[in-house]
Amino acid sequence: MSVYDTNNIFAKILRGEIPSHRVYEDDATIAFMDVMPQAEGHILVVPKAASRNLLDADATSLPALITAVQKIAVAAKEAFDADGVTIMQFNEAPAGQSVFHLHFHVIPRRDGIPLKP
Ligand code: C5P
Repeated sequence: MSVYDTNNIFAKILRGEIPSHRVYEDDATIAFMDVMPQAEGHILVVPKAASRNLLDADATSLPALITAVQKIAVAAKEAFDADGVTIMQFNEAPAGQSVFHLHFHVIPRRDGIPLKP
């Protein structure tokens, strides 16, 4: 069974125990710059509520979360003068998740520039 670890890195960032470069906050959401960006302007959008990933998230919280993702994607595209935006979200380790607190990657993209691995 998947459980929520209250000591995951994003929980510590939410509690202010670990620093982050925060670029957005509302009642339910924060967003900060990824420390290992796959492209310039790589942002992580993280709900304040505790859920391990999208699979166990409270469905009633999702409209607000995806609205924040959209807002941040539009702002990041403008701020980083990008041609497009990749949005990614992983659920459990086999699917690529490494931090087990729900988050969306928002990555501004430039023509002809691939994501760093
Ligand atoms: O979706 P996934 O769980 O694989 O992504 C976690 C992301 O969190 C990675 O892109 C990693 O660079 C980022 N990270 C971060 N700050 C930390 C630890 C991880 O931005 N302190």
